[in-house]
Amino acid sequence: MIENGGNVSVIGAGTMGNGIAHVFALRGYKVTLIDVSAERLEKAVATISKNLDRMVAKEIIRKETKEQALKNIETALSVAEGVKHAALVVEAATENEALKLKIFEEMDAHAPADCILSTNTSSISIAKMAAVTKRPDLVIGMHFMNPVPVMKLVEIITHSGTAKEVTDSILRISKDLGKVPCVVNDFPGFISNRILMPMINEAVYALHEGVAGVTEIDTIMKLGMAHPMGPLQLADLIGLDVCLSIMQVLYSGFGNNPKYTACPLLEEMVKEGKLGWKTGEGFYIHEAGSKELKVSARFS
Ligand code: NAD
Repeated sequence: MIENGGNVSVIGAGTMGNGIAHVFALRGYKVTLIDVSAERLEKAVATISKNLDRMVAKEIIRKETKEQALKNIETALSVAEGVKHAALVVEAATENEALKLKIFEEMDAHAPADCILSTNTSSISIAKMAAVTKRPDLVIGMHFMNPVPVMKLVEIITHSGTAKEVTDSILRISKDLGKVPCVVNDFPGFISNRILMPMINEAVYALHEGVAGVTEIDTIMKLGMAHPMGPLQLADLIGLDVCLSIMQVLYSGFGNNPKYTACPLLEEMVKEGKLGWKTGEGFYIHEAGSKELKVSARFS
């Protein structure tokens, strides 16, 4: 079982993968960050370095700690290569069931026999991923929140076959990372996204139906409900493609329940590649380094 300083492989170097690599490397684990795109890997390491610099500037960590954390990270372009020495894998690739099942098969074929295979999926069945491996007892959900270095919660999802020692191990590791773990059962969207995503989807419907504008919807939820950010701003942070995938999992996972129908505006924006922060435009325009909330021309 994995100890502090052990080998952790993180699959997917996108929004979540770079944050997960950041927190493990900072805590002294040896991290292999894996992606199919060399460009994504390069960008992820640059993002981690920039985020660590911010921690140095705020005197949260020392410069030498930052340098050591970066030294703890190496990169790989294939799952087969990147999981060979792992004691724990955190899969954080694109939210797509077929892709995740393929990655789980690959991880299972190449990771050491006692390696824990975890996934950061937002909504997809952990049991389905476990079923394509020869070690379903070592499969578990380890759902970090965005941005990972800042957010305290890790939602831990056990399926009916997860071994108790594996859950205990993931609880211990989450606490070692300074996080607060919460264990839940394996249902579509678990707890976090079963509750959050219908709220975001409803906010998009309200915009689509012309009930109010982007600023009004977000201001009402921020000031009226004491949410730290409005649902449309949060959707941009999460990624509209991720939001749409989660709605689709909720819809099919609960027997095509119309209550989970994704808003057509959300579908349209994803088709247009307006995905939020990661593409520079969603409900808002996002410019690196700027904190100003500028509503996209389409909605202003
Ligand atoms: P993203 O689109 O930013 O990044 C996904 C990365 O996966 C990309 O870099 C892509 O190149 C890579 N990838 C695709 N196929 C791969 C493969 N076969 N092998 C290796 N890498 C591959 O996505 P994200 O927002 O980081 O989401 C990743 C996971 O985390 C998803 O399951 C998502 O549901 C979950 N999640 C997202 C958020 C969020 O706020 N974005 C929050 C919690 C959980």
